[in-house]
Amino acid sequence: MRPQQPPPSPAVDTANRATNRRRRPDLTLPLPHRDPALAVPLPLPPRSAPSSTTSSSQPLAYAELERVSRIGSGAGGTVYKVLHRPTGKLYALKVIYGNHEDAVRVQMCREIQILRDVDNPNVVKCHNLFDHNGEIQVLLEYMDKGSLEGVHIPHEPSLSDLARQVLSGLYYLHKRKIVHRDIKPSNLLINSRRIVKIADFGVSRVLAQTMDPCNSSVGTIAYMSPERINTDLNHGQYDGYAGDIWSLGVSILEFYLGKFPFAVGRQGDWASLMCAICMSQPPEAPHSASREFRDFIACCLQREPAKRWTAGQLLKHPFIMQYASPGSNGSGGNNPVHQSHQLLPPPRPHFSSA
Ligand code: ATP
Ligand code: MG
Repeated sequence: MRPQQPPPSPAVDTANRATNRRRRPDLTLPLPHRDPALAVPLPLPPRSAPSSTTSSSQPLAYAELERVSRIGSGAGGTVYKVLHRPTGKLYALKVIYGNHEDAVRVQMCREIQILRDVDNPNVVKCHNLFDHNGEIQVLLEYMDKGSLEGVHIPHEPSLSDLARQVLSGLYYLHKRKIVHRDIKPSNLLINSRRIVKIADFGVSRVLAQTMDPCNSSVGTIAYMSPERINTDLNHGQYDGYAGDIWSLGVSILEFYLGKFPFAVGRQGDWASLMCAICMSQPPEAPHSASREFRDFIACCLQREPAKRWTAGQLLKHPFIMQYASPGSNGSGGNNPVHQSHQLLPPPRPHFSSA
């Protein structure tokens, strides 16, 4: 599987130059290497029937859009709020940085075409794609309350509702064999109806695979699973579905704690993040949290990808079920859960800890 290439750490870079160039940097784990030739397309999901709700049969025309303001920028592009003049409706327009090689552009367009078919209440709708003199622009559903980056949610029922919505979106994508690969708070968007949606799949993945590895805008590894960062960990096997579940677990725990859950800053350099994620035990929810929540996080943050629960199973986890209204978990009700699963034991009282 294709590993994620990190941006170079300044410390590693200096060490490299100062010592014999043939020597590896002084890291305990070998650096993964990338091969852009392996930028394989996603498996094609089955085409769904055209939606009668958001996707109109006539794609929205570029000339009818007016830029209202700039919303924000990320690793791959800048997002604008735009107005569709004929209807007065607002959309988000993501302008992907740079003019890409033809092959990259073709692949991005192909993926976005696939994503135009995706239609789920918990996934940001992709309405159209424009190739504007080689610059790719994606027209997205506008989420008026922005992203969940930096949001602190210590209230478990609210967090359960949020997790359920993200899991419903992930369950839908995974069923269609679409792996997100970049689940993180800034890619979870919310609107004023308190609907949470997953954004930014496909495009960022292609970008991450094709951009110059020395370009620091490749994005963060902070939410990536240990086996994706260090491909030696799972015999070189990378299961993208399990990778998404890890990223979800890190994000949900971050919402609960109000801070990145590893013993290193989220913006830390690549080597520190890699050591924290790959070489220490997965983070846990604190003992002050409910048993259900602690167990839910443990089911997401299993070090061994095969032991992580799937999106369908997590939708049936007690932490989700205890607050969900009937029929709200989006899994269709027919996926097996670990019936015999025992929740984590209750926390030990403070006085008994040595
Ligand atoms: P990355 O490039 O790694 O995904 P990012 O998510 O911070 O990082 P962008 O995806 O470019 O960067 O998004 C920039 C900001 O624009 C986001 O933080 C989000 O607040 C906002 N944004 C993105 N998509 C939408 C949308 N569909 N509706 C409203 N706001 C959006
Ligand atoms: Mg994003």
